[in-house]
Amino acid sequence: MTTIREEDFIQSVADAFQYISFYHPPDFLQAMHEAYQREESPAAKDAMAQILINSRMAAEGHRPICQDTGIAIAFIRAGMDVRWDTKKPLAELVNEGVRRAYTNADNPLRASVLADPDGKRINTGDNTPAVTHVELVPGDKVEVIVAAKGGGSENKSKFAMLLPSDSIVDWVLSVVPTMGADWCPPGMLSLGIGGTPEKAMLLAKWGMMEPLDMHELRARGPRNRAEELRLEIFEKVNALGIGAQGLGGLQTVLDVKVNDYPTHAVGKPVALLPNCAASRHAHFVLDGSGPAHLEAPSLESWPKLTLDFGKSRRVNLDTLTKAEIATFKAGETLLLNGKLLTGRDAAHKRLVEMMARGEKLPVDFTNKLIYYVGPVNAVRDEAVGPAGPTTSSRMDRFVEPMLAQSGLIGMVGKSERGPVAIESIKKHGALYCIAVGGAAYLVSKAIRKARVVAFEDLGMEAIHEFEVKDMPVTVAVDSTGNALHKTGPAQWRARIGKIPVAVV
Ligand code: SF4
Repeated sequence: MTTIREEDFIQSVADAFQYISFYHPPDFLQAMHEAYQREESPAAKDAMAQILINSRMAAEGHRPICQDTGIAIAFIRAGMDVRWDTKKPLAELVNEGVRRAYTNADNPLRASVLADPDGKRINTGDNTPAVTHVELVPGDKVEVIVAAKGGGSENKSKFAMLLPSDSIVDWVLSVVPTMGADWCPPGMLSLGIGGTPEKAMLLAKWGMMEPLDMHELRARGPRNRAEELRLEIFEKVNALGIGAQGLGGLQTVLDVKVNDYPTHAVGKPVALLPNCAASRHAHFVLDGSGPAHLEAPSLESWPKLTLDFGKSRRVNLDTLTKAEIATFKAGETLLLNGKLLTGRDAAHKRLVEMMARGEKLPVDFTNKLIYYVGPVNAVRDEAVGPAGPTTSSRMDRFVEPMLAQSGLIGMVGKSERGPVAIESIKKHGALYCIAVGGAAYLVSKAIRKARVVAFEDLGMEAIHEFEVKDMPVTVAVDSTGNALHKTGPAQWRARIGKIPVAVV
């Protein structure tokens, strides 16, 4: 009988979460590089180049691929002939591994997990607890898969109880456009079909850990219904023209996974989970001989790409005015220089409440841009840790009061804005730019200085002042209300020509 020592299990989990924070799986890199080579949309191609370059930098620097280092998930298949040398529950051992990984002094990861989710929403400080699933299987080994799932993509999870005669493809094509770019495409879509609602969700989550092998499936053809669905959904979702970061293009998904399970005669549960550009999972097996060792990938796995900002316009944030903003056009790329303030959900809520009470704000936003970000803490000589953009639509409700009352003239974030925010941007002649979600370490290299200027108690959500040098962004909503996330995908969908373009 194999004996698994408590310490071996904990250290293996901790090492695996560290590993996935800076190493993309090789199959993901290959699929992303192939998609990059196939992409014809310049904006989407540039975004994919940033993701790939960021990935290499993270691997070299052993720093997180994305500032959202995810909620920790563990799937454990424990052999029935295993003896555990511990008195603690398995979930607690996983949590200890997560705690160790996320508080590692060399590469601290961002703690994003909040307790009391519909109440005080207090950060637990070490990203625990993990979400742990355990299955007992025959054998004398313990198989573990860990994953760190970003909130932007997790928030776009979909589920439906379809009727037996409903088309899953139609349902997928109806929901994917509603997900916008918040899930940081290109990535993977994973479907779980059948069972019960919770079983369908678990099937989809499990499928997310499978290797990306769409190129093999396309070459050999489908062997069953699940593979037929994979191919059809892959073709049709890419024909939507959403593209990398929702900028419009040919490559929205790198792969589609389908796992199914028998279900009740009257229904067809279906779950759809997207996996983002920060695809992070690792697999190891414990056989009682000590902690697992995950081999570092060769740097040859990463393509050697360079970015060309030759056509980008340099902008001085310290002298920026609405008159200059009026000259920027949606789709244009800018290199930001100077002082950039930060803030996200909690800081915006406080700011807007203070303005409603007529109180003076702790920071002067006059003629400033705000960057929606919650950075990873800095280590060594870093000004700041990985600091990519967070989902902007969560801040849509704050745009009007911020633009109307605080003096703010623009925002930088990730993915599309809703109609109300776009209307406010147009009304105030303001600006909304995007940085590439999933390119957090690359973006952080443009941040030369960082200091907290307000709401320090909010931790990573505190308001920082960044001093940036040539930070690459794209104008996503210009001062006339022209929105790239509407025009880009519509143009590419029409160009691909497989799916009619709805007139809106
Ligand atoms: S790539 Fe995008 S969705 Fe994924 S963790 Fe990073 S910010 Fe979140």
